[in-house]
Amino acid sequence: MFGPPGVGKGTYAKLLSSKFHIPHISTGEIARDEISSGTPLGLAVKDLIASGQLLSDDVVTALVKERFKRGDVLRGFIMDGYPRTAPQAKSFDSYLGERGWKLDAVVNIKVDEEEIINRIVKRFTCPKCHAIYNIEYWPPKHSGKCDVCGGDLIKRSDESDTAIRKRLEVYHDVTEPVLAYYKAAGVVKDMSGTGGGVEENFGKLLQLLEK
Ligand SMILES: [Zn+2]
Repeated sequence: MFGPPGVGKGTYAKLLSSKFHIPHISTGEIARDEISSGTPLGLAVKDLIASGQLLSDDVVTALVKERFKRGDVLRGFIMDGYPRTAPQAKSFDSYLGERGWKLDAVVNIKVDEEEIINRIVKRFTCPKCHAIYNIEYWPPKHSGKCDVCGGDLIKRSDESDTAIRKRLEVYHDVTEPVLAYYKAAGVVKDMSGTGGGVEENFGKLLQLLEK
């Protein structure tokens, strides 16, 4: 799943994961595990995220390789948030190539930039179970409390207005070249993330993948 932050990559990846029973691999989630375990890698990751920067290619690839040691990837997998630089795409390709695997599709989700900013600044996260809420689109039942586990919702430091604008800038500079790389390989499928609700867009995504 490909696209700028805030387009719903994680949401669609989760839906695909439960429909096809293959793992949803989010570098964000692997990183959060490292952070909460307080490993040196986790601490470095925490500082970088707080300042709105991308993690170094080496750090991210180390996280992904750690995840790929688990056997659940053998029937397929959905990547969310990786690869997000051209060097990462190249190392991921050669990593997959060593196993005789390749990516079937790179779904490029397109959403208007002001809408992205609007979505992210209204987003709140549960630090316990990582459920995500949006005060406008999908608010929690009880203000400030997680529906799932009752935890206190927080505003992530990388989701302020300033941080998200910085992340979009970094996306254009560093991540967009990944799209050119996969376009050359002929695997990119464009999808609109605007308009219909999540369910309707997910229906379109399934049609796109059937092709
Ligand atoms: Zn929760």
